[in-house]
Amino acid sequence: MTTPPGAPVPPVKLTADPVAGRLSGSNGRYEKHLADLNGIYRDAAAYDRLLAADDGAPVYWVEASETEDGPGGLITGISVLEPGRVGDEFFMTRGHLHARADRSEVYTCLAGQGVMLLETVDGRSEAIEMSVGDTVYVPGHWVHRSVNVGSTRFVTMFIYPADAGQDYGLIHDAGGMKNLVVSSGDGWTTRANTDHEGYRA
Ligand code: MN
Repeated sequence: MTTPPGAPVPPVKLTADPVAGRLSGSNGRYEKHLADLNGIYRDAAAYDRLLAADDGAPVYWVEASETEDGPGGLITGISVLEPGRVGDEFFMTRGHLHARADRSEVYTCLAGQGVMLLETVDGRSEAIEMSVGDTVYVPGHWVHRSVNVGSTRFVTMFIYPADAGQDYGLIHDAGGMKNLVVSSGDGWTTRANTDHEGYRA
């Protein structure tokens, strides 16, 4: 049976299992392994050492539900980020700006301890700590990346417009984000990324 354009589609129920890192009812999944993340960490020697000993398990994965692809549709899913470090940088997602840069996003922490690292192309930077129950609203025009600063999986649920898209090249072309989230004693802090050359306009 085909659905006429504009006709209501059925509602969707999703059930997150933060311990297992699964979202039942979702219809899409991707994984990122350490080998996929070459160049996102500043300490290349530490990355190479970790890769040489890599067991092939994903560093993070996303399970999502994409139901409506029109301008009114929302994509809902979970992001699951394993704990770990490359040098003094914690495991993190690649990060992106939405291809339609004015599109916003909401993240709610379901498990673990993390940081949402946010930057604007004109140089503003924020690092917001998240634990279970915390929600961060990421306004449009903010580059964003999740970082696991804890010792267990950092799991977030996200919701963003289906027409947002992702620009992953922006961070790469800039030499990484302006700030890094790094270990400090038994906690975390930020420090400037000396490889960062500014974002293209
Ligand atoms: Mn996003």
